Amino acid sequence: MPRMHNDSSRLFKTATPSTKKAIYIKQNICYIAHERKGRKMKLLGIETSCDETAASVVQDGRDILSNLIASQVDIHSRYGGIVPEVASRQHLLTAIPIIQEAMTQAQAHWSDLDAIAVTIGPGLAGSLLVGVNIAKAIALAQGLPLLGINHLEGHIYANWLEGRAPDFPLICLIVSGGHSDLLLMKGHGDYQPLGRTRDDAAGEAFDKVARILGLGFPGGPAIEQAALGGNSSLHRLPRPWLKGSDDFSFSGLKTAVLRLVADLSEKSEKADIAASFQEAVVDVLVTKTVAAARRLGARQIILGGGVASNRPLRQMMAERSPIPVLIPSPILCTDNAAMIASCGYFHLKAGEISGWDLDVAPNLKLT
Ligand code: ADP
Ligand code: MG
Repeated sequence: MPRMHNDSSRLFKTATPSTKKAIYIKQNICYIAHERKGRKMKLLGIETSCDETAASVVQDGRDILSNLIASQVDIHSRYGGIVPEVASRQHLLTAIPIIQEAMTQAQAHWSDLDAIAVTIGPGLAGSLLVGVNIAKAIALAQGLPLLGINHLEGHIYANWLEGRAPDFPLICLIVSGGHSDLLLMKGHGDYQPLGRTRDDAAGEAFDKVARILGLGFPGGPAIEQAALGGNSSLHRLPRPWLKGSDDFSFSGLKTAVLRLVADLSEKSEKADIAASFQEAVVDVLVTKTVAAARRLGARQIILGGGVASNRPLRQMMAERSPIPVLIPSPILCTDNAAMIASCGYFHLKAGEISGWDLDVAPNLKLT
């Protein structure tokens, strides 16, 4: 697993046949985590990277005991996009009630927890700061280990929250509002970058095209809905293949839509354009992901991020892939805290905890 903020840390582990005892010493603070045989570990996950305030309690990185999400979408939709200052103020109002409710629904007391996992980035600095400081306060007050989590790695770990755990090596496609990343994952924390977007992320392209078509915010679900009544074969939009590379590019597609819209007025025509645009994006994402999986001999394909909740993408990926495809339920594709708690569990198992100097990292990368 990639180590985070471990420069000033030392880790000691002792184990006996019946009891594994890990003693983590971080900046003169000593935590003792008992990992008794058969005892499940519960983590509280906190996510405030963008416009969702989320808290969740997850057991052993796999079983969701509670998963609370307070979306700010109604507040931001009147501005046609996320207003960072408004987002962080809203997190301040919502975070503590959401965390309390997540603990209540999980029937967990603070003493039942083994660690607190919180998103440190990428995301909006002000929003991230709310979650990170609340997580620090709880961890300090309760004497619990603190785990700073990369939001993108969290999206990957949403795949561990349902059904069978994924098999390595696998190809992972993360498609969200800010990222389109294709990765080879050979084990926990072992990420090899293959491709990423050269301009707009897939979700960003959905949001921008929805704005061009006057379909509202967020654009992904609005385009998917509008496309249901459209004919995707009326307009043949370009496919940005970038041959010989696993990278993506969606801004040319957005410009092509802009040109088409210039002489349109009918609502039905908007639906046709939405359907053509969606099909072009999905075709490119699926073709490049499946080609990488074949080339690299992957055993599975996994998806994550808000765009992975798109039904045509889910269907086409499953139809065209010769190997099993895992995609989290839509509610676990968009931002949530269960994925952060799951990811935190695997870091905790690897002894990778953060120090009190943990800070937000708005531009954090995965690799
Ligand atoms: P973030 O980008 O903050 O990590 P998410 O991972 O929740 O947030 O992704 C949000 C993005 O996913 C937005 O750009 C949104 O338009 C897109 N999205 C959400 N649902 C769909 C959908 N059904 N089809 C296509 N895109 C979608
Ligand atoms: Mg996200």
